[in-house]
Amino acid sequence: MSDVEKTEFQLPPQSDGPGRDPDTPLDPYSQPQEQDGERTLRPRSLEEFIGQPKVRGQLDLVLTGAKNRGVTPDHVLLSGPPGLGKTTMAMIIAQELGTSLRMTSGPALERAGDLAAMLSNLMEGDVLFIDEIHRIARPAEEMLYMAMEDFRIDVIVGKGPGATSIPLELPPFTLVGATTRAGMLTGPLRDRFGFTAQMEFYDATDLTKVVTRAARILDVGIDADAAVEIASRSRGTPRIANRLLRRVRDYAEVHGDGHVDLPAAREALQIFDVDGQGLDRLDRQVLNALVRGHGGGPVGVNTLAVAVGEESSTVEEVCEPYLVRAGLVARTGRGRVATAAAWAHLGLTPPEGTIGAWSED
Ligand code: ADP
Repeated sequence: MSDVEKTEFQLPPQSDGPGRDPDTPLDPYSQPQEQDGERTLRPRSLEEFIGQPKVRGQLDLVLTGAKNRGVTPDHVLLSGPPGLGKTTMAMIIAQELGTSLRMTSGPALERAGDLAAMLSNLMEGDVLFIDEIHRIARPAEEMLYMAMEDFRIDVIVGKGPGATSIPLELPPFTLVGATTRAGMLTGPLRDRFGFTAQMEFYDATDLTKVVTRAARILDVGIDADAAVEIASRSRGTPRIANRLLRRVRDYAEVHGDGHVDLPAAREALQIFDVDGQGLDRLDRQVLNALVRGHGGGPVGVNTLAVAVGEESSTVEEVCEPYLVRAGLVARTGRGRVATAAAWAHLGLTPPEGTIGAWSED
């Protein structure tokens, strides 16, 4: 055993339930001082959860089936860009099952012992939520295989040649894993999830409902067209919709009586650098680096990240999914390429042969 010296039990960072808001370090929109606000905005049941009808319907079946049979549901993998509701969904799963939620994240599980400590604290039926599960360290991942499949782990006690392996039975539990990079999960880990859901970007109608709901909870008066405006500039992401609503509320309180109308929403969004298509400063920097810096590409994501001074994981997991979905960037075998729409977005004429340009239609 190469990592016997690493298996001492140590409690990893964790929380006992839906109290903690685990905004990932990847999320540039996370604002710690406002996490209380985020918490109050989280839907608490499948019924209250807006959008994602397919995932909701499938999950409802999985949970109801398990409840009827009196067993713990299969392990669930939720994938999709940050802010789409993966953590919220994990909390809802525990809530719907009437059990507790234990939360941790892949980066916190550096050693097998970190995971062993977490697993040995589980009670029967608990939901264990591992955010960013694609970042789990190898020894912990290997321990997870047996835990997921057989509800059992082998704990190594002692060091060196005298180390012994003690089997530890675990109570049945449901693992909910969340990832922004499903493709980075190893095959054996992916195979152990009984249900995998891909969370999609939200359309404007659902996001308008998110904004309207949040305004009601935060006691902000808002006109219907202002809610639509905020929704349509939220990059298909509820977390951003809620954040923009709070910024617009600030503006409306400072410059008026706090009521949000369309002009106030537009003015505030402009002040906070959100453009007509919902792109923020980082999105535009990436587009600029691609179009102005590299003639529209193809260019590798690492080069783009260096150009904008960001981690490539942030560009890849936060910016790129939306730029691709908005039809501004295309992924090709040779790198990222700006589409004609991207050139137009920056007020430039695309060169001949650009993807999506007139000449190619
Ligand atoms: P993720 O884990 O995918 O990064 P979260 O579950 O933390 O996303 O969601 C971010 C915020 O967005 C939550 O605080 C919640 O207020 C809001 N949110 C997410 N999904 C929904 C939804 N379907 N309806 C309403 N609000 C949502």
